[in-house]
Amino acid sequence: MPVTPAAQADVLTAQDPELAEILRGELVRQATTLQLTAAENFCSPAVLAALGSPLANKYAEGYPGARHHGGCELADMAERIAVERARELFGAEHANVQPHSGSSAVLAAYAALLRPGDTVLALGLPHGGHLTHGSRANFSGRWFDFVGYGLDPATGLIDHAQVLTLARERRPKAIVCGSIAYPRHIDHAFFRDVADEVGAYLIADAAHPIGLVAGGAAPSPVPYADVVCATTHKVLRGPRGGMILCRAELAERVDRAVFPFTQGGAQMHTVAAKAVAFGEAATPAFAGYAHRVVANARVLAGHLAAEGLAVTTGGTDTHLITADPAPLGVEGRTARGLLAAAGVVLDCCPLPHGERRGLRLGTAAVTTQGMGEAEMVRLAALIAAVLRGRTEPPAARDQVRELTSAFPPPCSG
Ligand SMILES: *Cc1c(COP(=O)(O)O)cnc(C)c1O
Repeated sequence: MPVTPAAQADVLTAQDPELAEILRGELVRQATTLQLTAAENFCSPAVLAALGSPLANKYAEGYPGARHHGGCELADMAERIAVERARELFGAEHANVQPHSGSSAVLAAYAALLRPGDTVLALGLPHGGHLTHGSRANFSGRWFDFVGYGLDPATGLIDHAQVLTLARERRPKAIVCGSIAYPRHIDHAFFRDVADEVGAYLIADAAHPIGLVAGGAAPSPVPYADVVCATTHKVLRGPRGGMILCRAELAERVDRAVFPFTQGGAQMHTVAAKAVAFGEAATPAFAGYAHRVVANARVLAGHLAAEGLAVTTGGTDTHLITADPAPLGVEGRTARGLLAAAGVVLDCCPLPHGERRGLRLGTAAVTTQGMGEAEMVRLAALIAAVLRGRTEPPAARDQVRELTSAFPPPCSG
């Protein structure tokens, strides 16, 4: 019998109706609204089955063949398979699949390569850097001396000249490339050259595009970066978690930085689910998916621009779009609220010119639901109509429901 979320909720109902109700409600929410949050996706029933498996009960501190706990034979096999599949999928010499999250992967990468106080050059937070790229509210900003490069306010593209100037002036120990909101491919060869010139490590934080890389729909940072950090739950469509890829000579430092330096026991149910997701991501079907994600994003970006939104960089190479809704007479935060009321869920994000908040959206989840270019055209029209106040939220919600019932997410039954 397949373990669907609905079936899991049934199991819970008898014992804990309060939580069961919340899980059912969330199932309905996900199935009846549009998930355009760029970092989200729907993982498969097989990934969910691994997450709900008996490995959730298993303690497995350490690495396969060198655990601090007994009874790890099967957990070891699961982790070895996950590591092998990750290495093969990304052509990496070494993979660590234990980081609990993308942030934990970045923390471990810094721990492997840096000492507290070291200078690190990364995309500034107001330009789309992640919290772990030097936020004062995060360990990164507290323990390291972060220098931020930016985007060209006119084009929205990474200011390569500024990266080079700052690298030469500040001589960072590491350079980070990667963003929560950059819609274009990152020029890894450029960052490698800069890192080599100033003797810095290159860390690629590929949390967003790694799923596109897996499907051959985006260039890989693996041949260029010393360490690649990633999440497994964004376009990659696996369980919530992180991973690190690196060259063989850094393997031991990276492994020790994950355990025992920054983490205790690995979450073996998640590790098993990562193995399942890597297996799925190696299929031609996933490659097709990754390319459809990008094709959908291009169509959505094009039609949002045609509707009058100011699409950053004029389009996208990836699953991710950022846009300023101001030309339609509404600011980013208000726009997000209006769209949420209409059942269209997305985020706000900083804009390259830094003057106001924009919208960030992605096509990973709706593409998993099977939506294609025709639906992207409808979506762009719907978004613009809501923002212009031409379609009231209840009427928009009806249109959203039409789309979601024609394209239900997996596991929503
Ligand atoms: C999503 C993301 C992360 C963090 O992932 P979490 O799993 O939320 O900790 C780190 N860096 C970048 C660039 C991201 O997009």
